[in-house]
Formats: sequence, C-alpha cells, structure tokens
Amino acid sequence: MQETGSNLGIYVHIPFCESKCRYCDFYSITDKGLISNYLSALQTEIDLMARPDLKSDTLYIGGGTPSLLHYKQIGQIVDQITMAFNLDVTTEMTLEVNPGTSTVRDLQDYAAFGFNRINIGIQSFNDDYLGFLGRQHNAKQSIVAIEAAVSAGFNNIGLDLIYGLPNQSQKDWKQDLLTAIKLAPKHLSCYMLTYEPHTPLGIDHEAGRVVPLSDIRIADMFRMTHDILGTAGYEHYEISNFSRGSRWRSRHNQKYWNLSPYVGLGPSAHSCSLPRRWWNHRDLSSYMDALKSGHLPICEDEHLNQEQQLIEGLYLGLRQTDGIDLKSFQERYQIDFQLYFSRALDQYFAENWMSIDEKNCRLTVEGMLFLDRIIDELVELID
Ligand code: SF4
Repeated sequence: MQETGSNLGIYVHIPFCESKCRYCDFYSITDKGLISNYLSALQTEIDLMARPDLKSDTLYIGGGTPSLLHYKQIGQIVDQITMAFNLDVTTEMTLEVNPGTSTVRDLQDYAAFGFNRINIGIQSFNDDYLGFLGRQHNAKQSIVAIEAAVSAGFNNIGLDLIYGLPNQSQKDWKQDLLTAIKLAPKHLSCYMLTYEPHTPLGIDHEAGRVVPLSDIRIADMFRMTHDILGTAGYEHYEISNFSRGSRWRSRHNQKYWNLSPYVGLGPSAHSCSLPRRWWNHRDLSSYMDALKSGHLPICEDEHLNQEQQLIEGLYLGLRQTDGIDLKSFQERYQIDFQLYFSRALDQYFAENWMSIDEKNCRLTVEGMLFLDRIIDELVELID
C-alpha cells in the first residue's frame, strides 16, 4: 500500500448469510459454525495488513450479512481495525444489515461502536418479488428494519433496491420508489437485476425458465428512477446511486469509482493502490489456510499499465454524473480528453448522450444507457 495523498478506505467482508438469494454472486456461505474460525483468521489478516501510518476515512463492513454476527463480534472487529489503522475522527463507518437480522438494541450498539451509516438490503417492498429473488424477509420486516435504524438514532440510512425483474411493471417499480421516498433514506442504490452465471437465477435464465424483462422496459425504468428520485430531491450521482445532496453520497463507494486506495479484508475482498490491485481467495477454507500458515490470503495480484488505468478511468469516470474531470484526466494520463477522443465525442454530443463544459465531461441519463457501448468505442480509439 503506497502513500498517495488520498485517505485509505477499508472494507471488511463478512461471508455468512442465512440462505443464498437466487440472484446473488457475492461470496457467502450459510454454515454459521465457521464464524469464530473466520474471525480469528480475520484478526490475523488485520494484523498483517495494519497501516497505522496512513490515514483512513471510510470503513465499510459488508457481505454477506454482517448483522448475522453477534453485536459483540462486530464491536470486536471495529476495535481491531481501530488498533491497526489510523481512522480519522470523521470516518464514514457503514454497516450493512438485512431486514429481520437486527433489533433496535443491536442497532444502538452499532451506533455506540462508532457506526454512523447503515445500509439496508431491502431489494423490494413487494413480497412476491422478494420471494422470486429468494430473500429471507418480507416487506413488513423491511419497514420495521428502517424504523428500527431511525429509532436507534441513525440519520444516514441507505437502502438497496433492485428493478427490472421478470414481469415487473412500471407501476410496481414506481410503487417501490414511492415507498422508499416516504421512508426518507439519505441514500438509495437502485440496481438493475442481472443474471449472473452459476447463480440459481442465472441457470434458470440460461435454461429458458425465466424470461427477462425487455431492454426497452428496463431502460424506461432507469429513466423513471432518475425522474422520480430527482423530483423527490435525490441527486443521481452514479449510474445506480442517488443521495439527498452530495453530503450523503457514499464516501466509501466513491473510493472505488475514483481509483482511490482501499484495503479489502476477508474472503473475495479486493484492494487497490495504483498501479497495483489484488484480491483475496474467494473460498473461506483457502482464505483461512493461507492465514493459518502466516501468509496473506491473496489469490491474484495485478499491476495496471498506463493504458489499463486509462480504460478504468474512463469507465469509472463516466459511471458518475460528475463525469470525467478534464484537468485531473490530463494530469493523470497526459491526455487531452476532448481532443484525443474527438472522433467519437461529436456523435455523443449530437445524440445527447454526453455533455461537456470547461471542467467536466459527463454522460447524460440517456447516455448512461449506452455506457458499455461508449466505453468500447472510446477504447477502440486508444493507440
Ligand atoms: S443476503 Fe446479500 S450477500 Fe447474502 S445471499 Fe442475499 S444478496 Fe447475497
């Protein structure tokens, strides 16, 4: 981990879930009997990765379902991280919870440990869709979970939602958005459903047992999300993320999108300190075995060359509505963005997919629907 001038972000992956949701490709297992062995391995990894010399300003404990741990175990992880890293007093500390897994008392304890942000995996307020996704909770439990977080004193609450489900109507998705708005979270992540290979849903899709919603309807839902949340005062700051003003953006996730340095701890967790990026073994046994023998559980390590960093910079920059900062882009890659990509940009301006001013170049909401195509075309222009 190099000193880069940017504060460090810390992510801890808790790889346990009550059961596996049908669409989920994150690494997690349901054998809770392994929690205590995992926590010992995590302690070793934290000790090996300790960087008290670098200031950190975000801690995100995600998963998996972190709220499946006993609240004292969560407190223990926070203590270990605090000893090993130099957490700034203003650190954004986020804990992911799932409805039905935390009481008000647990949430009060999380607040006492220093967490100032709770992200709740709601996914839908419709029980039929929750059943289709294989979620463990129902809509009523979601509301209870949000109210519990408010009662425990959390002001910064984020909700995750999924749209574009088979047979989902515009009206159903609008209802989810309106319900969320009524509950007044500071942050909303709205993800399009994806059919990941090897997940039960991906397998059903491949076998033709599930018919995805058409691209046209999904695009309409994306536009509707932007419009409804915008009218309700949410800023669309990243392709899937909305906040009630820039103050409530996820500071931690912005580190991923800005290629800032971050350390990932736990199985499958990724770390980045440009030009280096590396990630841990996905499988819990391989992760624990490596640490038992005193080694870091790194599965793969890569060094991005200048061109690879440029491609990442394009992709991550254009996902964000702030877009590409032209001055930083020039400094980082020694490229005048507008000049270098001019052959493609004119068409995007004409299609109203992109806009530019003296500081930034960004995709419009319409352009975001063509993000992958635009990146492919820009990459083609790189010498
Ligand atoms: S609760 Fe989250 S991490 Fe666990 S299986 Fe479901 S989607 Fe995946």
